[in-house]
Amino acid sequence: MKVKRYKHARKYLGFYKHNFNFREPHQVLVDGTFTRMALQNKINIKEQLPKYLGGEVQLTTTNCILKEAEALGKAVYGAYVILKRFQVRRCGHKDKAVSAFKCVMSMIADSNKNHYFIATQDPDLSSLVHRTPGTPLLYLHFSAIVLEKPSVTSTAAASSMTSKKINPSEFEKSALKKLQGADGTDEGKKKRKKRRGPKQPNPLSVKKKKKKSTEQGSVVTGETEGKKKRRRRKKVKIASHVQEQLQVQQAFGS
Ligand SMILES: [Zn+2]
Repeated sequence: MKVKRYKHARKYLGFYKHNFNFREPHQVLVDGTFTRMALQNKINIKEQLPKYLGGEVQLTTTNCILKEAEALGKAVYGAYVILKRFQVRRCGHKDKAVSAFKCVMSMIADSNKNHYFIATQDPDLSSLVHRTPGTPLLYLHFSAIVLEKPSVTSTAAASSMTSKKINPSEFEKSALKKLQGADGTDEGKKKRKKRRGPKQPNPLSVKKKKKKSTEQGSVVTGETEGKKKRRRRKKVKIASHVQEQLQVQQAFGS
């Protein structure tokens, strides 16, 4: 069961990484209901979440969430204490705190551009997350952390984004037509043929030719060649009268 849960998490995480640019450290916005449930089931969020998501995690909350948990008093005091350890993110309700629901709603707005994972047990907040594309939901199923399967809104947004990437826009279409028109003419074809033709010399053969030309052209290489020849002659020790005989034989072909 555990392996399956982790596999799913990795798959869903991949979806958010690929389609919505989620990157480590993962920003997890935690509310009081989640920490309360974690406390009841003796789950150490700080230890378990990075393990479950397989990467660095930044646990965050807001002042409004803290205020709401504080107001609930003794019943959620433990949850409040845990929440207080998390990084408090600015939420824009500095003057007057709002409900956790409203605060999270403003944090993710309509596209969750800051890439928050919402960790909550609140059904109202969960359904808000479902309506917001590119917003992953984390919840607790007894003592197991679960990253919910991407919502229909998220998958629809992702597929429309990929179709935009694949299909050219109107501007791109007109530009393509122009390009195709230019290439489709006879001139364009001729040009392409010219490029394809085997008229250009093999780059390797060009290199060889260059070598030869430099050897012939330069005085230095000429000298080295001469030296080599001289050396060879020195190695072969033939008496002068034998050499003369050989030359005579070569000249008369006998
Ligand atoms: Zn707030």
